[in-house]
Amino acid sequence: MKPRIFITRKLTEEAVASLHEKYDVRMWDEESVAVPRAVLLKEVAEADALWSVLADSINREVFEAGTKLKIVANMAVGYNNIDLEAAKEYDVIVTNTPGVLTETTADLAFALLLATARKLISAENEIRKGNWTSWAPMRFTGMDVGGATLGIIGMGRIGEAVARRAKGFDMQVLYHNRNRKPDAEAEYGLEFRELDTLLKEADFVIILAPFTPKTAGMIGARELDLMKNTGVLINVARGGIVDEAALYDALKNGAIWAAGLDVFEKEPIPLDHPLLTLPNVTVLPHIGSASIKTRLAMMNLNAQAITDVLEGRKPKGIVQ
Ligand code: NAP
Repeated sequence: MKPRIFITRKLTEEAVASLHEKYDVRMWDEESVAVPRAVLLKEVAEADALWSVLADSINREVFEAGTKLKIVANMAVGYNNIDLEAAKEYDVIVTNTPGVLTETTADLAFALLLATARKLISAENEIRKGNWTSWAPMRFTGMDVGGATLGIIGMGRIGEAVARRAKGFDMQVLYHNRNRKPDAEAEYGLEFRELDTLLKEADFVIILAPFTPKTAGMIGARELDLMKNTGVLINVARGGIVDEAALYDALKNGAIWAAGLDVFEKEPIPLDHPLLTLPNVTVLPHIGSASIKTRLAMMNLNAQAITDVLEGRKPKGIVQ
């Protein structure tokens, strides 16, 4: 019998063609609807490999059910949706897809920064609503990005790629990490700051750290209060790093000027979420890595990791 792979989202045939010959590939048949929990648990019970996405909670219950499971290949660089302790206990390898999405996610982070600073999406919506009546001196006005100070929290692969883009905009780039990065400081002229100092000095703050117990709720009311009232917060990392209730208050009360969010505590963000009532919030549906080339590259990495494990080789991108 061929080893079985279960994939939790419908993927293009191109992405899985190489797997069909040797494996029994089963796939949830919806692209935009998450696999129901009962289906996931039933499928994983028969699977040798699980291909997950960041919206799937791969917790202890999944590892308990997956008695034949050898690998969970997560199609994302973040892996906070996976219980690594349980994976270790049940001797299941977990892989992610770092590197191939770095530049694509940095493009999106910078695009969101520009869109938020210059109110691009609300301005476009005004045209479509028929509200562009004349050139107006102070209408649709935003914040300058060129020459401003950018603070990056989490100077990893994507953080560095954003810093390179910022240099092209003549920005002063500050960063905060647990470990300093002297090479990147020298190469890109980055300046290290403690978190509070970065929040006080930056015009734009971008979050690009992983979601961990340490970063959960890292940006709350106190931190938002340290930012300039002309400051802009951009989160392209994970929703839970920012306290959304505190962010709502800060945006509503003018403690900060605007926020651009690609990620949320709960995804999809509920339509009645208070943040969606604010005009100074720009929201995107978690599309950091969403270019055609990058998504296909992520799929290739996942397919390769699964093939490696099922053929007894050590895969790339092991996260524990
Ligand atoms: P990475 O190379 O691992 O970089 C993460 C950086 O965060 C590291 O430099 C790390 O450095 C720093 N960090 C970790 N804990 C920290 C803390 N408590 N305080 C401050 N800095 C901390 O990862 P990456 O590839 O750049 O990706 C970063 C994150 O972006 C991912 O974890 C993922 O959640 C998110 N992401 C989102 C999308 C999207 O679609 N929106 C796409 C890709 C990635 P130290 O360990 O030295 O602190």
